[in-house]
Amino acid sequence: METILFLTPSDGALSKNALETLAATKQLADSLGATFSVGLWGDETQASADGLAACGAAKFFAVTGPEFAQSRYSTDSAAVEALCRASGATLVLGPSGSRWNRILAGVAHRLGGRADSHVTGLSVADGAPAIARWFYRQRMEGVLTRTQRPWVLALESGIAPAWQGAPGSATIEAVACTPAAPRSKVTGIESPAEDLQTIRPDADLLFVSGAGWTKKQPDGQIKTEEAQKIILDFLRLSRASLGSTKSLVDLHGEGQATLTFLSHMNQVGQTGSTPRHAKGLSTCCHGEEPHTVGWRFIGERRAISLDPNCGWARGKADVLYVADAFAVMDKVNALLAAK
Ligand SMILES: Cc1cc2nc3c(=O)[nH]c(=O)nc-3n(C[C@H](O)[C@H](O)[C@H](O)COP(=O)(O)OP(=O)(O)OC[C@H]3O[C@@H](n4cnc5c(N)ncnc54)[C@H](O)[C@@H]3O)c2cc1C
Repeated sequence: METILFLTPSDGALSKNALETLAATKQLADSLGATFSVGLWGDETQASADGLAACGAAKFFAVTGPEFAQSRYSTDSAAVEALCRASGATLVLGPSGSRWNRILAGVAHRLGGRADSHVTGLSVADGAPAIARWFYRQRMEGVLTRTQRPWVLALESGIAPAWQGAPGSATIEAVACTPAAPRSKVTGIESPAEDLQTIRPDADLLFVSGAGWTKKQPDGQIKTEEAQKIILDFLRLSRASLGSTKSLVDLHGEGQATLTFLSHMNQVGQTGSTPRHAKGLSTCCHGEEPHTVGWRFIGERRAISLDPNCGWARGKADVLYVADAFAVMDKVNALLAAK
C-alpha cells in the first residue's frame, strides 16, 4: 500500500497549481484505495493547514519557523526531507514551480528514491501508480511506472481542477528540522512592474504575436510602434499571457526593429514553451511550430492572418479570421476599454 504525501510551501495563499496538485493527489489516493497526508513548510503553517482542513487528508505535517520563510535550497530541501521521513511517504507530490522543481531531485537522492518532473497525468496501472509526461519536445506522451520509492513528483499546472473546500481547523503534527546555517541571505525581492511581466501562466488566454506585426503592411509602411502599442494595450485590458513566434523574438538578436518587450522567454513552439491556457489567439503568424507544438495544450484556438492560404492557421485554428490584425485588435481594444 502506498503512503501518499502532498507537499507545498506555506508562503501565503496557496497557488492555483498547489490546489490542482492537491486535487490530483486526492484522486490518485482514491483510485489506489489509499489515504494521503498534507505536508507544509514555512514561517507560518497553521493558516494554510486550516485552509485545507476539509480536503480529506489523514494527517497534516508541518515544519515551521522563520528560517523556512524564504525560498532557499538548503532550508527548503531540509524541510522537505524531514517531512518525507516523518510521514514515511512512498509517493510525494508537489506543484511545479521554481521552489519545488529546484529541490525535488536533491531530496529524492537523499531519501534513496527517484524524481520525475513535468508530470501531466496520474493513473493506476495494474494496481500501481503511473505518471504521464511528454517527450521529444512535447510530441509524444509516455506513461511510466517506477518500482523505486519514495517517488517524488512535480505536477504541471492545468491537469486537474483546483481543490475547493471550506476552511476549518486542522491538527498539525510538528516535524523537527534543524537545517545547516544558511550561507545565503535574502535581502529583498526585485521584480519587474506588473505590466512589464507579460508571461502569465494563470491567464485564460494566450496571445501569440508573429513576425507579421513588424513586416511591411499593405499600405507599404512598417508600423512597429503601432504594433507595440496595440499589443501592450490588449495585454493590459485582457490580462492575457504573451507568446511569440521564434521569427519575431529572433529579430531582436539581429538588431532589427522589433517589439521591445519580447524575449526568448515568450517563444512558444518546438524550441520554445508549450503553455497551458483555456484559449489561444495567434496574430500575424504563419509558422508550424507556434500553431502545432506551441498550441498543443490550448483548448480553443483562433488566428488572425492576412494569408487565406496559411495551412497551419487553417488546419490548426478552430476559427480563422482572414483579416488585418492591426484593424481587428484596434477594434477589440476599443470594445474592451468600453467595457
Ligand atoms: C528546428 C526548428 C525549430 C523551430 N522552433 C520554433 C519555435 O519553437 N517557435 C516558432 O515560432 N518557430 C520555430 N521555428 C520557426 C518556424 O518554422 C517558423 O519559421 C516561424 O514560426 C515563422 O514565424 P512567423 O509566423 O512569426 O513569421 P512569418 O512566417 O513571417 O509569418 C508572418 C505572417 O504574418 C502575416 N501578416 C502580416 N501582416 C499581417 C497583418 N497586418 N494582419 C494579419 N496577418 C499579417 C503574413 O501573412 C504571414 O502569414 C523553428 C524552425 C526550425 C527549423
